Amino acid sequence: MRLANKTALITGGNSGIGLATAKLFVAEGARVVITGRNQATLDVAAKELGPNALALAADATDIAATEAAIGKGVETFGKYDILFANAGIAGGTPLGGATVETFEKVISTNLTSVFFTVQSALPHLNDNASIILNGSVISVLGIPGYSAYGAAKAGVRAMARIMASELSPRGIRVNVVAPGAIRTPIWGAAIATPEAEKAFEKRIALSTPLGRIGETDHIAKTVLFLASDDSAHVQGQELFVDGGATASP
Ligand code: NDP
Repeated sequence: MRLANKTALITGGNSGIGLATAKLFVAEGARVVITGRNQATLDVAAKELGPNALALAADATDIAATEAAIGKGVETFGKYDILFANAGIAGGTPLGGATVETFEKVISTNLTSVFFTVQSALPHLNDNASIILNGSVISVLGIPGYSAYGAAKAGVRAMARIMASELSPRGIRVNVVAPGAIRTPIWGAAIATPEAEKAFEKRIALSTPLGRIGETDHIAKTVLFLASDDSAHVQGQELFVDGGATASP
């Protein structure tokens, strides 16, 4: 029980990486508050997670809604020891046709909301808490069509280092988990049918030294490491969990 008596807040905890992390945290003894926008998937997640979880609807780009959810979580479970700022969207912004609306939506969800979630949570974090931000290999790989997403995730890395400096006096750690391609609903149409999913997996396997797509548990276990005392001296770092994608030439 590596998270016994700990309370965690996970944004985007009703799907994919966030949900897998919430399940692992509960199994490790934590009380978990999850947020998302989709009430139906929040309800399903709440059922799966059981009594040590609270599922709250809150759009991460809405600061007041996020603050309200954070407060409700504190009323229910007490102050937080862990914040996993995970909520995010994909969204292509190719040079050939990106709109300002899409560009700004990707930035506001994947970057601006991360900053304000941390800011809103700060008064409710215990000293020595652990903050983990969700990054991406796209911050360093030149994958065509993802300027806004890559810029947002590179911004997350920069913010993590700055936040780590600002929060070290309270013993609060801030690190980034940076996944490679992970099998989650974020891939939308690319995995919509079994045939599409197979083709997608094959494509990812070819560009990944370990020869496979990543699974949500690969990320959840790394987040658990960064959330727990096992990483007590890890501060301001970015940990790539990508089967070697960023390590190969
Ligand atoms: P999912 O689509 O499964 O999960 C995304 C989560 O974010 C959902 O819970 C969604 O909930 C939530 N979310 C999205 N927008 C908002 C919002 N405005 N307010 C609140 N919640 C929101 O995808 P993943 O699990 O893959 O994505 C999680 C994180 O992992 C993202 O930050 C993504 O960028 C990152 N990542 C994923 C990779 C992958 O290959 N899967 C690779 C690299 C990084 P709801 O829809 O209810 O709002």
